[in-house]
Amino acid sequence: MIKCPKCERTLSDVKIAPVKLKLSSTETYKGVAYTCPWCNSVVSSGPDFLAQADEIATRVIQALRKS
Ligand SMILES: [Zn+2]
Repeated sequence: MIKCPKCERTLSDVKIAPVKLKLSSTETYKGVAYTCPWCNSVVSSGPDFLAQADEIATRVIQALRKS
């Protein structure tokens, strides 16, 4: 069983919230924070894979239109 590191309740799911991933003061990427549904503590964070999929699809479409 996975438990929240703060409230120690069992996690069968987590909430997600959008965050910016800052590589520098001017370069940011779309990310998400995974939070406990009980106490809202951040359990983890990482890239927004749905935003990445959209960006990849957009770049592929742009490349196909150029060819
Ligand atoms: Zn919690």
